[in-house]
Order: sequence, then C-alpha cells, then structure tokens
Amino acid sequence: MPGEESYLIIGGCGFLGRWIVDQLVERGETKVAVFDIVQRHFDNNITFFTGDLSNAADVENAIVKSGATSIIHTASPHYTAPADILERVNVTGTSNVVDMCLKHNVRKLVYTSSGAVYLDGIHQLISADERLDYAEKPLDVYNTTKIEAEKIVLNANDRSGEGLLTCCIRPCGIFGPGDQNNIKQWHRVVLNGQTKWQIGDNMNINDFTFVGNVARAHILASDRLAESYPCDRFRDPLPSIDLSVG
Ligand code: NAD
Repeated sequence: MPGEESYLIIGGCGFLGRWIVDQLVERGETKVAVFDIVQRHFDNNITFFTGDLSNAADVENAIVKSGATSIIHTASPHYTAPADILERVNVTGTSNVVDMCLKHNVRKLVYTSSGAVYLDGIHQLISADERLDYAEKPLDVYNTTKIEAEKIVLNANDRSGEGLLTCCIRPCGIFGPGDQNNIKQWHRVVLNGQTKWQIGDNMNINDFTFVGNVARAHILASDRLAESYPCDRFRDPLPSIDLSVG
C-alpha cells in the first residue's frame, strides 16, 4: 500500500535512481528521500541529503533523518573511474550502508549490481542466470568491487526473517531518457568515424534494458522482499551448473 514505507534512494540524482524516485512518487508514495553526492533535482515533495557514501556519518545522517524502512542503493562511480574511488565508494560505501541499516533497524535493502559480475571476457555465457558463480577473474576493477559489494549485501540478509532483508539486481546495459553515460560513448564512436571496424565475428549477443523496466524491477524487489524468496542462493544453494561455452 502506498505510504506504508519510507524510501531512501541512494544515488537518487543519477539516471536509474531518478527513474526509481519518479516511479515511487507516481504510484502515490509520500515518503521518498534521496541521498547523493550531488543534488541535481529540486522537488518540494522529496527530501534530499547530500553526502558521500564512503563517509559513514553522512550515510547515518540520511538514514536516521529520512526514517528509511526501505533503501534502494543505486550509487556507483562510472566503471572507468580510478580503482581507489571504485573501491572506496562501492565496497566501503556499501559496507557503510549495510552497517547503518543494521544499526538503525532498516527492514529492506535492494542493491544495484551489474550483469557483468559473471563475465571474464573469455567464456561466452548462454542462457546464464543467477545460478552461475561470479567470474573467477572479473573483467575489471568496477566488476570486482560490484562482486565485493554484492557479497556484503547478500551476507547481511537475515535468514531468520526478523532483521534486514536484502537482494541484488544485476542489470545489463541500461538505456532511455536521462542516460548521460552510454549514449555519450555511442555518440563519440559515430563522431570519430569508428563505426567501420568490427572486432570478432559480430555474433555476440548482449542485452540492454529500458531504464523504466530496471527501475520497476527495483521497486518490485523492494515490495516483495520477505522472509522467503525463490532465489536465495546462500540459504538454498542450487546445484552448481556450468552454462558457459569456452
Ligand atoms: P549514474 O552515474 O547516472 O548514477 C549514479 C549516481 O551515484 C550519481 O547520481 C552519482 O552522483 C551518485 N554517486 C556516485 N558516487 C557517490 C558517492 N560517493 N556518494 C553518493 N552518491 C554517489 O549511473 P546509472 O547509470 O544510473 O547507474 C546506476 C547503477 O546501475 C550503478 O550502480 C551502476 O553501476 C549500475 N549499472 C548501470 C548500468 C548502465 O548501463 N547505466 C549497467 C549495469 C549496472
């Protein structure tokens, strides 16, 4: 029922975060707050907290003052950011979020990870799903830190059902209005006349998802987080299967 939860959207001034905020407001939620390092939006019906995820006091301030019962954590530096920043924001920052959720009895935490946590750049993945393990050697520091962050979030899931409930969403590429990252890179490729080269046989399939659908997936995940859900691979480990083709 709209109005029951108090939402805090971490990274809520970003591309995906803003879509989540808008969809929550659109369905009648009245308690929506945002935590971000930069304030890019100014709405009367939303409380904005400006701060750095890697600073535990900033995170605590936003969680306490917003009275959050459900947190959706979408913040991350761009995947090309320096390693120390990725480490600090994605690992230390996510750890701060989990610590403060536990300290202040937040009920729900949904974390935006990356669909590339499975990829190693060598194996093709056919029909892969969440039963697949993380890549042994992830593609880059960004995905290494996303895996670390996921483990922090998933390990905090309270299997008794009494405490914090968590899950991770792993989007592939995200497209749609408001995108400041992917579209710029594609535009640059066209401007630089780099469309005439092809690497490989052009048979790889990659997925892009409309931002509105990714936002909706996060909200549905928050709605449905409960004592039990079908894909808790830590609680009910599924048989290890190899879906990769070398
Ligand atoms: P974005 O850059 O538009 O938004 C990220 C937000 O996080 C920004 O508003 C930024 O200011 C904020 N942020 C960064 N560092 C922070 C810090 N230290 N403290 C507080 N806030 C901070 O990115 P996006 O495209 O909306 O991506 C959202 C999430 O989805 C990210 O976690 C990203 O890794 C993941 N993801 C994105 C894609 C994609 O194609 N865009 C694909 C897979 C996963």
